[in-house]
Amino acid sequence: MQAQHWDELSFGQGYAELGDTFSTDVAGTPLASPHLVAWNAELAAQLGLDEALAAHDDTAAIFAGNVAPHGARSIATVYSGHQFGVWAGQLGDGRALLLGELSGQEIQLKGAGRTPYSRGADGRAVLRSSIREYLCSEAMHGLRIPTTRALALVASPEPVWRETLETAAVVTRVAPSFLRFGHFEHFYYGGRHEELKRLADYAIARYFPEALAEANHYQAMLDTVVARTADLIAQWQAVGFCHGVMNTDNMSLLGLTLDYGPYGFLDHFDAGHICNHSDHAGRYSYGNQPEIGLFNLNCLAQALLPMLDRDEAIAALKRYQGLFEAALEDAFRAKLGLTTVQPDDWDLMIALFDQMQASATDWTRFWRSLAQFDSAPGAANTTLRDQFVEREAFDAWAERYRQRLSQESSVDLERRVRMNTVNPKYVLRNHMAETAIRMATQGDFSEVARVQALLARPFDEQPEHEAYAGLPPDWANALSVSCSS
Ligand code: AMP
Ligand code: MG
Repeated sequence: MQAQHWDELSFGQGYAELGDTFSTDVAGTPLASPHLVAWNAELAAQLGLDEALAAHDDTAAIFAGNVAPHGARSIATVYSGHQFGVWAGQLGDGRALLLGELSGQEIQLKGAGRTPYSRGADGRAVLRSSIREYLCSEAMHGLRIPTTRALALVASPEPVWRETLETAAVVTRVAPSFLRFGHFEHFYYGGRHEELKRLADYAIARYFPEALAEANHYQAMLDTVVARTADLIAQWQAVGFCHGVMNTDNMSLLGLTLDYGPYGFLDHFDAGHICNHSDHAGRYSYGNQPEIGLFNLNCLAQALLPMLDRDEAIAALKRYQGLFEAALEDAFRAKLGLTTVQPDDWDLMIALFDQMQASATDWTRFWRSLAQFDSAPGAANTTLRDQFVEREAFDAWAERYRQRLSQESSVDLERRVRMNTVNPKYVLRNHMAETAIRMATQGDFSEVARVQALLARPFDEQPEHEAYAGLPPDWANALSVSCSS
């Protein structure tokens, strides 16, 4: 049954029951004149929330953190982490309140005010970054990439200072768990190994029950996290997603994409692309993400070491590279429309990346258009060819690709259908989020809703939205996203 009133719902508690070493009860700081500006009806329905709730008077106040709904126990959890490769000590939750669970999903308010972990900051999130998080969580879900979700967006006229004066907003985000690698690091580096074990037991019982069948549960959980992280990052690479701040406190234990800040999707291909303007050394560049995944897993394994056998832990970490490469090759094989495995496949892919790099070929548009490849001998494939500077070099690659397709007796029409289910037509380019933000700043949230609906079905043609599949406009080059949010 779908709840039409908040008093028909009751939040369950999970994390809060671990006790006050793990979190602190803290109420939201009331936000002036909150109004609900985006509502994810599909996710709401999954959580048992009726559409009618979107119009309910209390809803904006609840999602602003002004009013606690029935059964909610608003807490901020404590975690630490490695930021940009350096141990940073205790970090958060500085601005996220966990209300409890609905239908087995944790409900978190990001930007609902200060917590004991705010470290002098204001506990707020600005409208700009909240729209970016709201849109990208749902865009990633549309791309079938594991992610936290976004249920609602509440805006307020309340001023918030960043580089300039902005206004406050709160994103309601949803995930089975918001546990981060940093939660475990917190107790490990604090020398609180009894709490560390309790936290791991809690995580295993709820999120890794299959690990209970293994001799060492903690090792089994680590094995799963290694595999999921490898898989997640392979999917990021395939779609051209750059996270921007892969600190260990932004790494989900469940292998979800978590904490949308200065992320970006590749426009033209550049393996060294840095989406976060605060990342001067390019630690979190597109090409570095796989290796950073391993660095972060090393931090997690280190934190779990009191419960692990050292050699087994090292062996698990050593499996990462192989798992990642296998997942990546699978993803690119699918993107190429291949259904069989050949020893030279990776060579074929590398040769393509080299040419895309040299030509600054648009990532999303190229992959989408590759479905149209005509595998008849001598076919010109002009639309594809025109995306490269060295046309003859592309012709040579196209001939290799043609032969590879014919080796598996690929049928163009069938391959096209297959490829269009894995190469999205639409991704959340920075300029799309920026336009939605600019309009929202003027009080018009229609573009947020439009882009959300578009990106819920990124593999569909949606001809009425063709413009969103175009090359980014010139002004997009000047856009800069940083950690400031
Ligand atoms: P981030 O770089 O956004 O992942 O944030 C790193 C840590 O700083 C997290 O623990 C956040 O909760 C915290 N934080 C970021 N911005 C704020 C803010 N405006 N107020 C309080 N805490 C914040
Ligand atoms: Mg974070």
